[in-house]
Amino acid sequence: MDKSKKTEGKLIIVSAPSGAGKTTIVRFLLSSGLNLGFSVSATSRQIRPNEIDGIDYFFITPEAFRKKIEEGDLLEWQEVYEGNFYGTLKSQVNFLLDQGKNIIFDVDVVGGLNIKKHFSDRALSVFVSPPSPEELENRLRSRKTDSVETIKKRMEKARWELGFAPRFDYILVNNDLETAKNEILKVVSEFLKPKY
Ligand code: 5GP
Repeated sequence: MDKSKKTEGKLIIVSAPSGAGKTTIVRFLLSSGLNLGFSVSATSRQIRPNEIDGIDYFFITPEAFRKKIEEGDLLEWQEVYEGNFYGTLKSQVNFLLDQGKNIIFDVDVVGGLNIKKHFSDRALSVFVSPPSPEELENRLRSRKTDSVETIKKRMEKARWELGFAPRFDYILVNNDLETAKNEILKVVSEFLKPKY
């Protein structure tokens, strides 16, 4: 039997185009007393100055990543950005479930749909959406971290990602952050309630 399906915990999957506020929503849910554990992914991208190996990601080389694919260690994986691989570790999922936790995943849209397919009704897939593509572009510009060219690329990708929204269980429109937090807390709490 597939060990990852054995124990009782439920799964919350959060996906979104970059700039929609996904990380903030995930952090908020993790701090909301819902017995959620974060699924730390493996990635082959470079570690950023503010990140911690084993907390934000398991940072591994492209060769080590390829080995994990070959050995069947990943529940799903994607080349989210060119040359950068990201994948959900089966060992993480089993570790959190064995601890009696519910799991929250911060993954790209395709990975999110794959995890949903694997866990079916035991998982709730949430798509965090910006109010509009125009608003997303404004947000990316006001961050002032990306070049015009990068913003253009991100927007092309975001439009493609927005097309996946209807395939998620729940679309959370992040217009006002406080409203979005209250809304998702209600939805996730309801989903995690034991059903008799
Ligand atoms: P970043 O490099 O900014 O941390 O993340 C880039 C993107 O990769 C984000 O959209 C994030 O949700 C996604 N991502 C992180 N981990 C995984 C994973 O295990 N699988 C998939 N499919 N996407 C992931």
